[in-house]
Amino acid sequence: MNQQATKLKETRVKQEQTFKCSANQKCGGCQMLSIPYEKQLEMKQAQITKLLKHYGYVAPIKVMQQPIYYRNKVHAVLDRMKNGQVISGTYKEGTHQVIPVKNCYLEDQKADAIIQTICSLLPSFKLQVYNEDTRTGLMRHILIRTGHQSGQIMVVLVVSSFMFPSKQNFIKALRKLHPEITTIVLNLNDKKTSMVLGDKEKVIYGKGYIEDQLCDYTFRISPKSFYQVNPVQTKILYEKAISLAHLTGKENVIDAYCGTGTIGIIASKYAKEVIGVELNNDAIKDAKLNAKYNKRHNIQFYNQDASKFMVSLAKENTKPIDVVFMDPPRAGSTEQFMDSVIKLGPKRVVYISCNPKTLARDLKYLCGRGYRVKEICPVDMFPHTSHVETVVLMSKVK
Ligand code: SAH
Repeated sequence: MNQQATKLKETRVKQEQTFKCSANQKCGGCQMLSIPYEKQLEMKQAQITKLLKHYGYVAPIKVMQQPIYYRNKVHAVLDRMKNGQVISGTYKEGTHQVIPVKNCYLEDQKADAIIQTICSLLPSFKLQVYNEDTRTGLMRHILIRTGHQSGQIMVVLVVSSFMFPSKQNFIKALRKLHPEITTIVLNLNDKKTSMVLGDKEKVIYGKGYIEDQLCDYTFRISPKSFYQVNPVQTKILYEKAISLAHLTGKENVIDAYCGTGTIGIIASKYAKEVIGVELNNDAIKDAKLNAKYNKRHNIQFYNQDASKFMVSLAKENTKPIDVVFMDPPRAGSTEQFMDSVIKLGPKRVVYISCNPKTLARDLKYLCGRGYRVKEICPVDMFPHTSHVETVVLMSKVK
């Protein structure tokens, strides 16, 4: 085992501490790194309070105790310097210029170490880095996903062709230096695109996915499926969301925008029945497997647009719905969706949002139409960035 490559820094973070990163001003990944963490929290609390206080009580933001090296999903783009040296990093915001990043304060340290090892191995295997202008070369990106609890690690090599010379020897060399890698997948991206992953995959080592444990359940994570990037804070977020729902075992629950079914599966233990709805087909496949794997028999998943699904459910009106969890993408929800919620009339709506602006817009809509905000709780899911996650409990006005 390569001690050098996998030895992790034991850093205890003090709340007044700031960090210096060589790529900070260029990569655009963490807008708040130079601000002490306690000040970042104050700023986020003030932002949410200003935007949402007239709807209801804003609880103190849920703090991350060790707010570094938290990202379980790390992406690096590869490039070659004029002297031939292979570098990995991130695109400078809004450009295709690669800013080298060796260690990032947000990213899992093992993932960063594996990326550096891959870069150092490429020349000896005569593997060329892809050139976007000439569209030659093999290796485009590296994506690493790590299981925070399980320790499983997936390496996705994004390549321009499945013709990978000396593949077995490369796997052997990489695994020798990082035996902690549990699976390696080739992803084919032969298009002129800024998207990282293409459609086709080939598993070249292990199972092709990793598993991780969260709130006592095991979840399967495939190269493309959505999984929250900060596992420590996700546990806090989900526990808060589920506690706000006040489930007693008798409720019919909807988990809308359910991704791989995480919230619904965790909540199903405390509910009568759960329905999950999600647009992404890969995520729904994982959600169904996750329910089966965790022996949750009172949850069903539907692969549909959440708004259309809710409209037809409200039309049928055959089943009383007691609680709705909604966790839409940054664009927020739709009036169609919310009109159907109002029609179905659940006692409680728990809204999980990654964009305070669209959250404010949607709260305004629901609050004018029979719902009242009971609690607003920001959660710091993305320390050192300007993003804030917020959970809101709404209840039906009697
Ligand atoms: N609740 C999940 C996923 C939240 S991310 C979790 O905590 O992991 C938001 C999810 O909404 C994504 O999985 C995305 O694919 C899904 N989504 C986006 N638009 C949608 C739509 N119109 N209908 C249903 N799901 C949608």
